[in-house]
Amino acid sequence: MSIPADVPSRKIGVKELRKAFWDRAEKSACTIFRWVLRAKSQDMTEAVKTRPALILAPHADDETLGCGGIIALKRQAGTQVTVAIATDGSASHRHERWLTTTKEQLIALREVETRTACEALGMSPEGVRFLGFKDSELANQVADLSEAILALIRQTQPREVYVCAEVDGHPDHVALAQAAHLAMQNLSDPRVDLFEYPVWSFDFRSWRHQGKTNTLGFLFGVRDMMRTAFSWRMRSVSIGPVLRIKTEALYAHRSQLGDYPQEPHWSGLPDAFLDHFLRNTETFRHVPPVQKGSE
Ligand SMILES: [Zn+2]
Repeated sequence: MSIPADVPSRKIGVKELRKAFWDRAEKSACTIFRWVLRAKSQDMTEAVKTRPALILAPHADDETLGCGGIIALKRQAGTQVTVAIATDGSASHRHERWLTTTKEQLIALREVETRTACEALGMSPEGVRFLGFKDSELANQVADLSEAILALIRQTQPREVYVCAEVDGHPDHVALAQAAHLAMQNLSDPRVDLFEYPVWSFDFRSWRHQGKTNTLGFLFGVRDMMRTAFSWRMRSVSIGPVLRIKTEALYAHRSQLGDYPQEPHWSGLPDAFLDHFLRNTETFRHVPPVQKGSE
C-alpha cells in the first residue's frame, strides 16, 4: 500500500531539488554579476556629493533601492535632488489576493510610503514628484514620458540624471530607461551625465532565455549578463556612512516588503534580492552620451 503513496512524493522531491538547484545557480550568477560591476567600477564618491541630480524611478521604492545612498549623501552636503516616480503604483500586487485595498487607496499608500522614505533620505516634500503614469503601462508611453523627463531636466537643471537600467527585465523599467535616453539625446547637453542603476538586473529572470531548456536558458542568460557587465563603464559610490539611513528609507516602503497589516497575505521583495542593495557601495553605469542624429 505504501508504493502508490511514495511515487508522487518522490516526484515532488525531485522537482523541489531541481528548483533549489536552479534557484541557487541563478542567485550565484546575480552575485557574480554584482561583484564584476563593483570590481570594474571607478570611485566617484566625492564628486557625487555636490552635483545636483534628478533621480528617475519607474515605481515607488526603485529610487531607494538603486539610489538611496547617493540621495542621502547629496542631501547631507546640501545638494539639490529631485526624485520623480513615473508610475502611480496602482498595479502593485494585482496578481495576489485582494482583500480590502482599493486601487485609489494603493496609489495614496504608495505616495505616503515614498514621501516617508524620501524624508528619511533628507529630501524636502517639494523635491519629490509623482508623474502619475499608469502602472505597468509605461511601454506604451515612452514618447510622453520622454517629454516629461525633458521638461523636468529643464526645470530642475541637474548635472546628473539617474534612471533604472535598460536591461532590467521589467517592461516599465525598460520603457523609463528608453525615455530617459531619448530625453538626454534631445537635451544634448554635455554638462549633464546619465547614469543607470540596475534593479531587476539582479534578478535572473531578467536574463534567462525563455523557450529553452533550463540549462540552455541559464547558460545564454549568464553569457548575456557577463557581456553586459564587461561592456558597461561603471562608477561606484561608498555609502557606508548613510547605509543606516538607506535601510530606514527602504523599510518605509512597507507594502513592497510584505509588511502591510491591512493585506497580511501580500508577498514582499525577498531578502536575497534586497541584499544586493543594502551594501556599502552603490554602483552605476555611466551611459556614454549620444549626440542627436548619431544613431
Ligand atoms: Zn520597479
